Amino acid sequence: MNIDETLDFPRYSKSLDFDALEKEYPPPPEFFQSVYRMPRPALRALQEKRFLKLIARGWEIPFFKKRWTAAGLQPGDIRSLDDITKIPPYTVHDTRESIEAFPPFGDFMGIEIGGKNAQPLVLHTSGGTTGMPRPMLYTPQDRETMAILGARRYAMQGMRPGDKVLAALSLGLSNGGFALRDTIWKYIGAIPVMTGGGNTTATRRQIEIMKNWGIDIICSFPAYLRHMAIVARDELNIDPRTLGVRALHSHIGIEDRAKMEALWNAPCYDMYGTNESGMMACECTHQNGMHIMEDAVILEVADPETGKILPEGEKGTIYITTLYRSGAPSIRFNVNDISALMPAGCACGSTLRRLDRIFGRNDNMVKLRGANVFPEAVGVAVAEDARSNGEFFCIVDRVGEDQRDEMTVMVELLDLATDAEAVKENLERRLKEVTGVRMTVQPVARGELDAYTGTSQTSKIKRLLDKRKSAV
Ligand SMILES: [Zn+2]
Repeated sequence: MNIDETLDFPRYSKSLDFDALEKEYPPPPEFFQSVYRMPRPALRALQEKRFLKLIARGWEIPFFKKRWTAAGLQPGDIRSLDDITKIPPYTVHDTRESIEAFPPFGDFMGIEIGGKNAQPLVLHTSGGTTGMPRPMLYTPQDRETMAILGARRYAMQGMRPGDKVLAALSLGLSNGGFALRDTIWKYIGAIPVMTGGGNTTATRRQIEIMKNWGIDIICSFPAYLRHMAIVARDELNIDPRTLGVRALHSHIGIEDRAKMEALWNAPCYDMYGTNESGMMACECTHQNGMHIMEDAVILEVADPETGKILPEGEKGTIYITTLYRSGAPSIRFNVNDISALMPAGCACGSTLRRLDRIFGRNDNMVKLRGANVFPEAVGVAVAEDARSNGEFFCIVDRVGEDQRDEMTVMVELLDLATDAEAVKENLERRLKEVTGVRMTVQPVARGELDAYTGTSQTSKIKRLLDKRKSAV
């Protein structure tokens, strides 16, 4: 074999001006003295400068150029941040179409692959529930800024240098565990312990690791945090509260935070991020809304039907605009997560606006006899009942001669023989109160739903099967 000695191998260390990046997007602790407390007018000016640069970049990327031109826009039409509403939003269906038309990466990345000016790239994917997962490429600028934004989150939520952090997050195609590792290793000085989900390291072993290595902090998703606590308590006879875990970093949404905190005797912090855009908003220790990293992203909340931008306090779907991404930026990406903006003024003193928790995914919403039901809301009602371990699965179907829409909620009970009847009755009443529609509760034994949900194995947990759709 001949070695081609003339090849240019792109080097990570030469791919970025790291000092300049840290000035632009300060990591902690500089973050706390700058962006975190920046007066609103200065923040707005910074956003506008970055926004206009992003728009110029957008015109270079075929996906945006085509869509914007079709909407009647020309370069120069977007002159200020106020003009953002002129830009047509897009959804995951549009990026999927782009990938189909221009395989394998679509025409929305704007990244040169190979060739003279190639950069070192990594690839992760968004959760594909059907077919191939959607690939996303990250340039060094994207990757490094995402790590800095993540570090702001962990610093805000009390992580310290030297903390041993259990990363019970996906180590597969998705970003989960890898983004965490980049973040805390490079910008916090904490030690990532990469156990992955239950399919990478068995849950019992994860608990032994916590105990023997003195894990300080756990990063995972709520269902697995709950699963680990219950396995420790019921299978290993270890009270999770005695393990000395100082904090849980998770994505809580509308899960029952108090119950999770009681299980572990540790605070549990919320955040909002996506595979494409990284960590965008997170709670401070006041746990009262998630501060948006406004120097790096713009989050708008829009009416899901009309697209009209909603004022603070009103719930709608989130539009993401990433100000920091050089490759594959999001520019008014309708991500279909439901939340609301909160008024400024957190007790922590930050000037960064806050996002309310994520109430659910708009495309998860089930129409049931005229009511809109989020499986996430069903989960909250289930988690309230201490006789359940919080595991549930919803099946929607048309039944009977009249083809009536019915939802059955299967719920795992810790002690099926003793509690089945009472839980069925209580929970059916509670679900009617919470959602406005009657559904059937079917208590099942512990572990029985894992084949449906995948909780013990993966972070892509399933909560719903709508047989009305799969029958079509
Ligand atoms: Zn705060």
